[in-house]
Amino acid sequence: MEKHYDLVVIGAGPGGYMTALYASKAGKRTAVIERSHVGGTCLNCGCIPTKTYLHTTGLYREVKKTEAAGLHTEGLRVSMEELKKRKDAVVEELRAGIEKQLAAAKVDLYRGTGVVCGEHLVKVMPGEEEVTADYILLAAGSEPSSLPIPGMDLPGVKNSTQMLEEECVPDRLVIIGGGVIGMEFATVYNDLGCQVTVLEAMDKILPGMDKEISQNLKMIMKKRGVDIHTGATVSSVEKMGDGTYLCRYTEKERTYEAPAALILSAVGRRPLSRGLFSEDMQERIEMERGRVLVNERYETSVPGIYAVGDLIGGVCLAHVATAEGCQAASAMFPELKGKDMTVIPSCVYTDPEIACAGLTADEAKAAGIDTVTGKYIMSVNGKSVLSMQDRGFLKIVSEKETGRILGAQLMCARATDMIGELELAISKRLTAEDLAAVIMPHPTFCEGIGEAAESLII
Ligand code: FAD
Repeated sequence: MEKHYDLVVIGAGPGGYMTALYASKAGKRTAVIERSHVGGTCLNCGCIPTKTYLHTTGLYREVKKTEAAGLHTEGLRVSMEELKKRKDAVVEELRAGIEKQLAAAKVDLYRGTGVVCGEHLVKVMPGEEEVTADYILLAAGSEPSSLPIPGMDLPGVKNSTQMLEEECVPDRLVIIGGGVIGMEFATVYNDLGCQVTVLEAMDKILPGMDKEISQNLKMIMKKRGVDIHTGATVSSVEKMGDGTYLCRYTEKERTYEAPAALILSAVGRRPLSRGLFSEDMQERIEMERGRVLVNERYETSVPGIYAVGDLIGGVCLAHVATAEGCQAASAMFPELKGKDMTVIPSCVYTDPEIACAGLTADEAKAAGIDTVTGKYIMSVNGKSVLSMQDRGFLKIVSEKETGRILGAQLMCARATDMIGELELAISKRLTAEDLAAVIMPHPTFCEGIGEAAESLII
């Protein structure tokens, strides 16, 4: 029997389930269709599993450092098998939490693959159960992409999802791709004692990030023994007679070989629009290379059908998917408030952590804005020194004429927790003077924010 809803959401990732919960708050009859586990990429094979690993391996590194401060830890070791079990338990616990939240909000959860068969009709496969809705939200996410080169289908070549299922630490890991995912895995495996090589085709790791941050991270990770090659194009992967692998790459027009026990392919993700539409709906939904196209209200070319998150491309992050979902919900149901989409934070959970929001000085310059940058080096920050953190820095970019804060780039301990304060300053159009006037507690990492702001007004 057909069921009718105000909103039917396809995909229970951070774009989908959070929007369903949001709509249900306004009393909307809502359903979510999920073909795998609730939580999507973020919970099952993305943000949460990787940060669970990074938490433990980071502690391991920190504890080893404190030997110099008198904390002796003979026999300290990490068991990958137990670490993976812990990761699975964290994921399981959070999945159960989402299911409880959905049930408490009276959001119906359908298990199956949603196929959009009409403007208001979705079929849940394989049973072909039909659900209709005033509005449909597509939040089907993305999947790992691969390079079109020989050897990428060999069993020793893993994507990030498969890598998170590994129970052993290889002695040599080659990571193809020095983006956020590649560098976070490099941090984990380097801390676990594995010889890591990163091969990045662009001229810097973390392409798209502030230049100084990329250069510093490369330097710090090289110092820890990670072999990083930029401008390195991988041409093939080959299995050797002894069961190991060889990754062939070109750097400065010369060909090299990197041996590996395992290879991680971290070369990006592609939208998961395949199979999402019936044939006639596929013709009506505008797409570009698999990416569903939307307008500023997140509405597709078919009125009443919206799309958010990794499926529409753009900034592919969990909090962006959620924020876009809120925007879409507020476009469908005007009683719901949207989000301020002008400031989007992006974080990298390497050591030191990296967090950015708003404009870099280069971006502001390209936009024709005259800026000044306040910089604070964390090697003089008490909390940084006493907790034995690596050298790091905070940069605050402000408009020269007005002092308005336009952006911030942080590379230091707790950067990912501190960026929220700077985001608020950017979005509320605060000036460096406003920020410098705030009393920061001592000793804390966030004293650095006050100091960087102070350096802009003196
Ligand atoms: P997804 O989370 O991919 O969810 C889509 C859901 O839809 C899935 O559950 C899928 O099974 C389901 N689905 C697909 N098609 C159908 C269908 N036809 N019917 C029913 N269900 C369907 N982002 C951050 O912000 N911070 C991080 O630290 C971070 N770390 C990451 C680490 C890794 C290794 C990876 C891979 C990603 C990371 N991301 C991170 C990115 C983040 O996970 C994604 O941007 C986010 O999950 C996208 O949310 P979404 O709702 O658009 O899609």
